[in-house]
Order: sequence, then C-alpha cells, then structure tokens
Amino acid sequence: MVELKGLRKVFGRLEVLRGIDMSVDKGQILSLIGPSGSGKSTLLRSVNLLETPTGGEVWLDGTRVNADLKGLAYERHVNGLRREMQMVFQQFNLFPHLTVMQNLTIGPMKLLGLSKAEAEARGEELLCKVGLAEKALAYPARLSGGQKQRVAIARALAMRPKVMLFDEVTSALDPELVDEVNAVMKDLAAEHITMLIVTHEMRFAAEVTDWAVFMDEGMVVEEGPPDRLFSDPEHPRTRSFLRKHL
Ligand code: ATP
Ligand code: MG
Repeated sequence: MVELKGLRKVFGRLEVLRGIDMSVDKGQILSLIGPSGSGKSTLLRSVNLLETPTGGEVWLDGTRVNADLKGLAYERHVNGLRREMQMVFQQFNLFPHLTVMQNLTIGPMKLLGLSKAEAEARGEELLCKVGLAEKALAYPARLSGGQKQRVAIARALAMRPKVMLFDEVTSALDPELVDEVNAVMKDLAAEHITMLIVTHEMRFAAEVTDWAVFMDEGMVVEEGPPDRLFSDPEHPRTRSFLRKHL
C-alpha cells in the first residue's frame, strides 16, 4: 500500500533521511520508533508530501507519490494524494472557528463533493465511533486534549483515506488522557485500517501493531514483529534505545 525505496531527505547540509526502504501492506499497522531527531516526522511528512523528498521513491497503492510533475499538474496530484493519506499530528490542528461537526464535514464537502446531509451523516457515525456524539456542536476550545485528538482522528477518517499517518498523537496529552486516544486507535487497528504510527509508547506498539521499525540517524537500523524487536533486539543501538524507553 505504501512503499518507500531509497528515500532521502536533505535540509541544507543535514542528511535527515539516508536511503529508507520500507513497505506497509494493505491492512498492516506499522510502528516507527527511534530517538528524537532520527527523522521519523520527516519520513511521515515525506510520504504525505508535506516535504519534498530529495531522492528515492514514494509509492501509494501503485501510484508514484513524488512524481516529476510541475505547476498545476503537481498541485492536483498532491491534493489528490493528500486525500488518500490522512495525517494526525501531535498538535491536533483542528479549525478553531468551526464546530466539531463542521471540522468533520468541511473536507468531505469541499474535496469529496458530499452534500451537507451526507457529510453530516458520516460525521455523526464517526463521532459515535470515537465516543463524542454529544460534542458535535461544541467548538474545539471547549474540548479536552484527548477529545480534540479524537476529533482530529475522526476528521481524518471522514475522508476515507487509504492510509492513516499518526505522528506521536498522544505525546502532547496529559497521561490520564492517553488511554482514550489509544483506545480509538486500537479500534481502528481491529478494523485493519492501514496505519503508519510514530510513537514512543512501546507497550502500545507491541499490543497494536504488526510490524515495528527502529530508525536512527536517518536509517532503518532494525525491524521485525514488535514482540521480537522489543524483547530481543539484535542491534546494539536498538538495545540501548529500548533500555531507555521500555
Ligand atoms: P522527534 O522524536 O523529536 O519528533 P523526529 O525523529 O521526528 O524527532 P525529525 O523531526 O524528522 O525527527 O527531524 C530530524 C532532523 O531534521 C532533526 O535534526 C531536525 O532538526 C531536522 N529538521 C526537520 N525539519 C527540518 C526543516 N524544515 N529544516 C531543517 N531541518 C529540519
Ligand atoms: Mg517527530
């Protein structure tokens, strides 16, 4: 579903991604772990074309994401792809001037051409799914961090993406709010939605994801089923990282 081949990203003289190969199959849930500054967010942002890769290839469902297009053609291409890959960030990025329901319906109405009624029906279903049916008319400022993040996840799902990208979605939350967001992600995992999850919560990764990738200094150091990777890492750098984080 998502495939990276020799992905490179350079900022000035800083090589942040140094030839990443990775693939996420349809329905697979992959966790990406690694020290701060190892390039995890840059990798997700390159998949979603929030960053332009310096080299290598990004593929989504058989389409080359970093295509060699210019001008309007490129813009159309990017906009099309962003619909198919929805990203959820550490800082929720909800539209503050819109209600929860409007946050959920604006994308499907503007980008997918749904009518207001269709978009609201989809929105209601998703708010139920994330346990926030009663907050449809609230503004984001009136929600807790955990509620905001659940709305952000519902908003992403409203676009019916092929892939969900999560970048440390619980790390800005107070500890007591983490579980409610993780519970929502567990539900998505049970539905086999294709997901690429950057997280520092190894227990969550072990419980929920099928495959774990440890990266350091812009390279994949080691990968495998999370149980194996976390309990019996082969590489010294993985071992030292896990000692600090388990
Ligand atoms: P964290 O766990 O702290 O979120 P990360 O693994 O997500 O770290 P990135 O945010 O991908 O790491 O950053 C990797 C490196 O790239 C860092 O050294 C960072 O300073 C640098 N970097 C990221 N974005 C830019 C940018 N727009 N311009 C210059 N350098 C950048
Ligand atoms: Mg990051």
